[in-house]
Amino acid sequence: MTVKISNKIVGYRVKKADPEATEHQAPVKAETKPVQMNEYIERPDFLLGTTYKIKPPIAEHAMYITINDILLNEGTDHESRQPYEVFINSKSMEHFQWVIALTRVISAVFRKGGDVTFLVEELRSVYDPNGGYFKKGGVFMPSLVAEIGAVIEKHLKAIGLLESEEMSETTKRILAEKRAEFEASHTTATNDEKATDFPPNATMCGKCSTKAVIVMDGCATCLSCGDSKCG
Ligand SMILES: [Zn+2]
Repeated sequence: MTVKISNKIVGYRVKKADPEATEHQAPVKAETKPVQMNEYIERPDFLLGTTYKIKPPIAEHAMYITINDILLNEGTDHESRQPYEVFINSKSMEHFQWVIALTRVISAVFRKGGDVTFLVEELRSVYDPNGGYFKKGGVFMPSLVAEIGAVIEKHLKAIGLLESEEMSETTKRILAEKRAEFEASHTTATNDEKATDFPPNATMCGKCSTKAVIVMDGCATCLSCGDSKCG
Protein backbone atom coordinates (compact mmCIF):
# COMPACT_ATOMS: atom_id res chain seq x y z
CA MET A 1 0.00 0.00 0.00
CA THR A 2 1.39 3.37 -0.93
CA VAL A 3 0.69 6.39 1.24
CA LYS A 4 1.32 9.81 -0.15
CA ILE A 5 2.74 12.18 2.47
CA SER A 6 1.30 15.58 1.78
CA ASN A 7 2.10 17.24 5.14
CA LYS A 8 5.44 17.88 6.83
CA ILE A 9 6.73 15.06 8.99
CA VAL A 10 6.77 16.48 12.53
CA GLY A 11 7.45 13.30 14.48
CA TYR A 12 7.42 9.55 14.29
CA ARG A 13 7.07 6.48 16.45
CA VAL A 14 7.90 2.85 15.90
CA LYS A 15 4.81 0.83 15.33
CA LYS A 16 4.33 -1.82 17.99
CA ALA A 17 2.64 -5.13 17.47
CA ASP A 18 -1.03 -4.84 18.24
CA PRO A 19 -1.37 -6.42 21.70
CA GLU A 20 -4.94 -7.46 21.07
CA ALA A 21 -4.08 -9.23 17.88
CA THR A 22 -1.42 -11.39 19.55
CA GLU A 23 -3.68 -12.14 22.49
CA HIS A 24 -6.28 -13.48 20.14
CA GLN A 25 -3.74 -15.68 18.39
CA ALA A 26 -2.19 -17.14 21.51
CA PRO A 27 -4.92 -19.57 22.61
CA VAL A 28 -4.99 -21.20 19.20
CA LYS A 29 -1.24 -21.95 19.47
CA ALA A 30 -1.46 -23.05 23.12
CA GLU A 31 -3.65 -25.97 22.17
CA THR A 32 -0.90 -27.63 20.19
CA LYS A 33 1.99 -26.55 22.43
CA PRO A 34 3.20 -29.32 24.76
CA VAL A 35 2.76 -28.71 28.49
CA GLN A 36 5.98 -27.73 30.26
CA MET A 37 6.54 -28.42 33.92
CA ASN A 38 5.29 -25.53 36.02
CA GLU A 39 4.18 -24.97 39.58
CA TYR A 40 0.50 -24.62 38.63
CA ILE A 41 0.20 -28.18 37.41
CA GLU A 42 -2.17 -29.89 39.78
CA ARG A 43 -0.85 -32.99 41.46
CA PRO A 44 -2.57 -36.09 40.06
CA ASP A 45 -3.99 -38.57 42.58
CA PHE A 46 -1.26 -41.05 41.84
CA LEU A 47 2.31 -40.70 40.64
CA LEU A 48 4.96 -43.15 39.52
CA GLY A 49 7.82 -43.36 41.97
CA THR A 50 11.17 -44.97 42.56
CA THR A 51 12.61 -45.63 46.01
CA TYR A 52 16.37 -45.78 46.52
CA LYS A 53 17.95 -47.18 49.64
CA ILE A 54 21.16 -45.72 50.98
CA LYS A 55 23.05 -46.75 54.09
CA PRO A 56 25.46 -43.98 54.99
CA PRO A 57 27.81 -45.09 57.76
CA ILE A 58 27.23 -41.79 59.56
CA ALA A 59 23.52 -42.59 60.06
CA GLU A 60 22.40 -45.37 62.34
CA HIS A 61 19.72 -46.70 59.99
CA ALA A 62 19.21 -46.92 56.24
CA MET A 63 17.51 -44.03 54.46
CA TYR A 64 14.88 -44.50 51.78
CA ILE A 65 14.73 -41.81 49.14
CA THR A 66 11.56 -41.80 47.05
CA ILE A 67 11.34 -39.67 43.92
CA ASN A 68 7.91 -39.42 42.29
CA ASP A 69 7.60 -38.48 38.64
CA ILE A 70 4.79 -36.89 36.70
CA LEU A 71 4.01 -37.80 33.09
CA LEU A 72 3.41 -34.73 30.95
CA ASN A 73 1.67 -34.82 27.56
CA GLU A 74 0.86 -38.47 28.06
CA GLY A 75 0.18 -40.36 24.88
CA THR A 76 1.55 -37.64 22.59
CA ASP A 77 4.88 -37.18 20.83
CA HIS A 78 5.85 -34.77 23.60
CA GLU A 79 5.38 -37.25 26.43
CA SER A 80 7.99 -36.62 29.09
CA ARG A 81 8.65 -37.85 32.57
CA GLN A 82 9.60 -35.11 35.03
CA PRO A 83 10.52 -35.43 38.70
CA TYR A 84 7.72 -34.00 40.84
CA GLU A 85 8.55 -34.57 44.50
CA VAL A 86 11.01 -36.26 46.82
CA PHE A 87 10.53 -37.90 50.22
CA ILE A 88 13.16 -39.27 52.55
CA ASN A 89 12.26 -41.81 55.22
CA SER A 90 14.43 -43.31 57.90
CA LYS A 91 14.26 -44.77 61.36
CA SER A 92 17.13 -42.44 62.19
CA MET A 93 15.86 -39.22 63.64
CA GLU A 94 19.15 -37.40 64.12
CA HIS A 95 19.00 -35.72 60.69
CA PHE A 96 15.22 -35.34 60.63
CA GLN A 97 14.90 -31.55 60.66
CA TRP A 98 17.22 -30.59 57.83
CA VAL A 99 16.31 -33.65 55.76
CA ILE A 100 12.65 -32.59 55.75
CA ALA A 101 13.66 -29.03 54.86
CA LEU A 102 15.88 -30.28 52.03
CA THR A 103 13.18 -32.51 50.53
CA ARG A 104 10.66 -29.67 50.57
CA VAL A 105 13.06 -27.31 48.82
CA ILE A 106 14.02 -29.92 46.22
CA SER A 107 10.34 -30.75 45.56
CA ALA A 108 9.59 -27.04 45.11
CA VAL A 109 12.42 -26.74 42.56
CA PHE A 110 11.13 -29.83 40.71
CA ARG A 111 7.64 -28.29 40.46
CA LYS A 112 8.90 -24.94 39.22
CA GLY A 113 10.08 -26.77 36.12
CA GLY A 114 12.86 -25.73 33.79
CA ASP A 115 16.27 -27.31 34.06
CA VAL A 116 16.50 -29.03 37.45
CA THR A 117 19.76 -30.88 36.78
CA PHE A 118 21.80 -28.13 38.49
CA LEU A 119 20.58 -29.58 41.81
CA VAL A 120 22.86 -32.58 41.34
CA GLU A 121 26.00 -30.44 41.08
CA GLU A 122 24.95 -28.25 44.01
CA LEU A 123 24.23 -31.15 46.35
CA ARG A 124 27.21 -33.26 45.30
CA SER A 125 29.61 -30.46 46.10
CA VAL A 126 28.58 -30.24 49.76
CA TYR A 127 31.48 -31.32 51.97
CA ASP A 128 30.98 -32.60 55.50
CA PRO A 129 33.53 -30.92 57.80
CA ASN A 130 33.87 -34.32 59.52
CA GLY A 131 35.41 -35.72 56.35
CA GLY A 132 32.80 -37.69 54.42
CA TYR A 133 32.83 -41.48 54.01
CA PHE A 134 33.26 -44.40 51.66
CA LYS A 135 30.17 -46.07 50.30
CA LYS A 136 29.96 -49.80 49.62
CA GLY A 137 31.83 -50.30 46.37
CA GLY A 138 34.60 -47.88 47.35
CA VAL A 139 32.96 -44.67 46.12
CA PHE A 140 33.81 -41.64 48.20
CA MET A 141 30.92 -39.48 49.39
CA PRO A 142 31.96 -36.09 50.74
CA SER A 143 28.74 -35.83 52.80
CA LEU A 144 25.24 -37.22 53.33
CA VAL A 145 23.86 -34.31 51.29
CA ALA A 146 26.22 -35.31 48.46
CA GLU A 147 24.90 -38.88 48.58
CA ILE A 148 21.33 -37.57 48.29
CA GLY A 149 22.59 -35.59 45.27
CA ALA A 150 24.09 -38.79 43.83
CA VAL A 151 20.72 -40.54 44.18
CA ILE A 152 18.96 -37.68 42.37
CA GLU A 153 21.62 -37.87 39.65
CA LYS A 154 21.00 -41.61 39.28
CA HIS A 155 17.27 -40.96 38.99
CA LEU A 156 17.62 -38.14 36.45
CA LYS A 157 19.83 -40.44 34.36
CA ALA A 158 17.24 -43.23 34.64
CA ILE A 159 14.42 -41.01 33.36
CA GLY A 160 16.60 -39.50 30.64
CA LEU A 161 16.99 -35.93 31.92
CA LEU A 162 20.73 -36.40 32.38
CA GLU A 163 22.98 -38.18 29.96
CA SER A 164 24.61 -41.25 31.44
CA GLU A 165 28.19 -41.76 30.42
CA GLU A 166 27.95 -45.48 29.79
CA MET A 167 31.30 -47.11 29.17
CA SER A 168 31.68 -48.89 25.87
CA GLU A 169 31.81 -52.69 25.86
CA THR A 170 35.44 -52.52 24.69
CA THR A 171 36.45 -50.31 27.62
CA LYS A 172 34.65 -52.63 30.03
CA ARG A 173 36.45 -55.65 28.59
CA ILE A 174 39.87 -53.97 28.73
CA LEU A 175 39.28 -52.96 32.35
CA ALA A 176 38.18 -56.48 33.29
CA GLU A 177 41.33 -57.92 31.67
CA LYS A 178 43.56 -55.39 33.44
CA ARG A 179 41.91 -56.20 36.71
CA ALA A 180 42.33 -59.95 36.29
CA GLU A 181 46.00 -59.45 35.41
CA PHE A 182 46.52 -57.18 38.42
CA GLU A 183 44.83 -59.56 40.81
CA ALA A 184 46.84 -62.48 39.47
CA SER A 185 50.13 -60.66 40.11
CA HIS A 186 49.10 -59.30 43.51
CA THR A 187 47.97 -62.27 45.56
CA THR A 188 47.34 -60.15 48.62
CA ALA A 189 43.74 -61.24 48.79
CA THR A 190 42.35 -60.56 52.22
CA ASN A 191 39.00 -61.33 53.70
CA ASP A 192 37.99 -57.75 54.30
CA GLU A 193 37.12 -57.10 50.67
CA LYS A 194 33.47 -56.71 51.54
CA ALA A 195 33.70 -52.93 51.73
CA THR A 196 34.92 -52.52 48.18
CA ASP A 197 34.34 -54.02 44.76
CA PHE A 198 37.92 -53.25 43.79
CA PRO A 199 41.31 -54.66 44.84
CA PRO A 200 42.01 -53.79 48.49
CA ASN A 201 45.20 -51.89 47.70
CA ALA A 202 43.59 -49.75 44.99
CA THR A 203 43.91 -46.01 45.53
CA MET A 204 41.51 -43.14 45.14
CA CYS A 205 40.59 -41.93 41.64
CA GLY A 206 40.60 -38.18 41.21
CA LYS A 207 37.97 -38.36 38.49
CA CYS A 208 35.23 -40.57 39.95
CA SER A 209 36.16 -40.57 43.67
CA THR A 210 36.33 -44.36 43.82
CA LYS A 211 39.09 -46.39 45.48
CA ALA A 212 39.74 -48.23 42.25
CA VAL A 213 43.08 -47.04 40.84
CA ILE A 214 45.71 -49.73 40.27
CA VAL A 215 49.25 -49.23 38.99
CA MET A 216 50.57 -51.61 36.37
CA ASP A 217 53.56 -51.21 34.01
CA GLY A 218 53.96 -47.61 35.15
CA CYS A 219 50.38 -46.70 34.30
CA ALA A 220 47.69 -45.84 36.80
CA THR A 221 44.27 -47.08 35.68
CA CYS A 222 40.94 -46.59 37.40
CA LEU A 223 38.95 -49.83 37.25
CA SER A 224 35.74 -47.94 37.89
CA CYS A 225 35.68 -45.16 35.28
CA GLY A 226 38.61 -46.15 33.08
CA ASP A 227 40.62 -42.96 33.68
CA SER A 228 44.26 -43.68 32.95
CA LYS A 229 47.59 -41.91 33.35
CA CYS A 230 51.03 -43.16 32.35
CA GLY A 231 54.50 -42.15 33.46
ZN1 LIG B 1 37.78 -43.33 38.29
